[in-house]
Amino acid sequence: MCPNCKSSKSLMKNGTYLRKSDQKSLIRYKCPACKITMSETFFSIDYRFRKRSINQMTFKALCSGVSQRRCGFLVNIKPIGVARRVVRFGTCAAFNLEAYRNTRPKATIVQIDEMESFEHTKCKPLTMPIAVEQGTRKILSLRVGSIAAKGKLAEISLAKYGKRKCQRKVCLEAVLEELGNCFLATGVIKSDESNHYPRPIANAFPEATHQRFKGQRGCVTGQGEMKRGGFDPIFTLNHSYAMFRDNLKTLSRRTWCTCKRPDRLQLLMFMYAWFHNLWLERKNKPVHLERSIITN
Ligand SMILES: [Zn+2]
Repeated sequence: MCPNCKSSKSLMKNGTYLRKSDQKSLIRYKCPACKITMSETFFSIDYRFRKRSINQMTFKALCSGVSQRRCGFLVNIKPIGVARRVVRFGTCAAFNLEAYRNTRPKATIVQIDEMESFEHTKCKPLTMPIAVEQGTRKILSLRVGSIAAKGKLAEISLAKYGKRKCQRKVCLEAVLEELGNCFLATGVIKSDESNHYPRPIANAFPEATHQRFKGQRGCVTGQGEMKRGGFDPIFTLNHSYAMFRDNLKTLSRRTWCTCKRPDRLQLLMFMYAWFHNLWLERKNKPVHLERSIITN
């Protein structure tokens, strides 16, 4: 597809050129509809980044519990360079997740729950609904949205920062809609006993079975996400949450590396989700970030 005019006609090859920096021969493409030309690197995650050699390292470091600033130090670029890469890589990972959902076989058992974190201060909490396939631990969909503060902080939050938008329902519905492509309509959805789930799930998947399980107390290992005492019916989900908290610096417990922008946190989480899926398949494929479908 053409990125300029979105025409459905496939792009034509239009010669090659040598890239100055590494003398690599690259293909140029032309759109038959709007006649615009573009290099094959337009579809790559490296497009217009000067230091191409650090991109995969940056991706892996950010998904391995390294903060953005420290990552910049390690690969010798400024923090803004890392921030730009978070945007590019996150968008690419979201694209890959979408392609993965559309092409994979349909999942029969999916576990859904919300993880909570905050931006800047605990007075501004965030909700993160995530859907994981049971057994394979593949992450299928996720979102980040703001919610109002609870308990003692509610009053302080209201006085200091005003009324906070609750995006819990919107986020959950977005996750359920994305699940539509990769979940068997008659399958099983497992969640905890929260009251927020039954109605949206029944609306999205009227023929699916929704099973609810009582929440258990968290234990210290596993970032408070793994549960104490014996069998955990939503272990796949809790294990994935613990992986998120361990491998994204901003989501760790008791960290001083807090999220500043929820939209960037969402991109980081897309990055981690794609990394996680690649990591689970690492025996067959390398853990490399590439656009999964080249649109030409
Ligand atoms: Zn075009």
